[in-house]
Amino acid sequence: MENAPLLDRYVELIGETFLENIYKKARSVEGIRVLHINTTHRGGGVAELLGALTPITDNLNIQHKRKVIQLDPDSNHFTTRIVDMLQGGIAGTIPEKEKQNFLRWLQQALPQQPTEEENADIYFIHDFQLIPLARLFPWLQPTIWFCHIDTDKPNPDAVDYIMEYQRDYQLCVFNNPFTVFKQHLGDRAQVLTLGIDPFTEKNAALSADVGEECLIRCGIDPKRPLITQVARFDRWKNPWQAIDIYRRVKREEPEVQLALVGAMEAADDINALNILHDVQKYAQGDPDIHLLSDPKVVRHREVNALQRYSSVILQRSTKEGFGLTITEAMWKYQPVIGTTATGPRTQIIHGTNGYISDETEEATEYTLHLLRDRDKWEEMGQQAHEHVRQHYLIPTMLIHYLSLLESVSG
Ligand code: UDP
Repeated sequence: MENAPLLDRYVELIGETFLENIYKKARSVEGIRVLHINTTHRGGGVAELLGALTPITDNLNIQHKRKVIQLDPDSNHFTTRIVDMLQGGIAGTIPEKEKQNFLRWLQQALPQQPTEEENADIYFIHDFQLIPLARLFPWLQPTIWFCHIDTDKPNPDAVDYIMEYQRDYQLCVFNNPFTVFKQHLGDRAQVLTLGIDPFTEKNAALSADVGEECLIRCGIDPKRPLITQVARFDRWKNPWQAIDIYRRVKREEPEVQLALVGAMEAADDINALNILHDVQKYAQGDPDIHLLSDPKVVRHREVNALQRYSSVILQRSTKEGFGLTITEAMWKYQPVIGTTATGPRTQIIHGTNGYISDETEEATEYTLHLLRDRDKWEEMGQQAHEHVRQHYLIPTMLIHYLSLLESVSG
């Protein structure tokens, strides 16, 4: 364990006792190999989470490997319908034929027996898309399913679909206590609260000069007020409402600009492209609306600058299990104007370190208030930062994560 300096750098944020507890827990699972399976290399919360966790756990001699199973267009279509039902509660049933086609496709995704590449002591299957894997490949044991979406008010048919496959998992992990299917899972349901790493390029301190350069690189005028939402171009992130709020604010503050930041890593992500095109139309060529989707322009440093040096941060998601972007912005001293979706309403304390409202008018009022009263904005931003320090930094997630490994490793 003497070769674990990465973790030591958190001591000032979490204290020595907490750090010691992490080391103790890590010792109990030292040497094990964990394989995480998900559907995207980069982009989105899962990739972010694994990117943050892996260097630290590797350093603790807990080996992490990743396997990405990229969905083909038909599978993508099928699983998009499931997320709409699970997350959006959208009515409908899952056609048996499509389900069978998807299972046949998934059956080809891994070998019948693990090769060196897949061999591990514990498996993590991320998100609803891949949940049938543990049934299809009995060698994936012990295995943990990790649900990342907002399942607070799901369609019952979609829940039945998930329930059919969850039995093959030792644990089912959710990122928010309100998204757990408690009545169905009993003790196997666990909550792993996500944390961010304050030392990564996305979250570390960034000087105002560098921040300004980044904004200019994104085509933004750093001298004028800026409202920003960082989110994939996805229907549940509700970029349209961010535009509505901006337009109302602009009537009173004509200098204001808007950035919608969703770098698209996969050029063939049809869903994201369709939403981006729709949002482009909605923006009606307004030169003060910046739709930032090019990953060559919007890298981690630019996301950092946009979150840190915007005047006001919005997160208008209608569905969100846990919004990493909210935590990231709060860490950067920003009070976030969120919604009553599961993540925002649990991550933000209304009136103390941000605001919660689903209404466009009310959210506009909060935006104007934060734009005009910068002392209040600063005071709430301090509270936001402190809230993240106490609850949402990576060491807190790590200790819970190690407990999960411990409980299935036998
Ligand atoms: N993100 C990014 N660049 C972008 C947009 C998003 O790096 O242009 C990151 C963002 O900083 C966050 C993650 O993608 O770390 C999104 O996670 P979140 O939980 O907010 O949403 P998800 O995409 O998982 O629904």
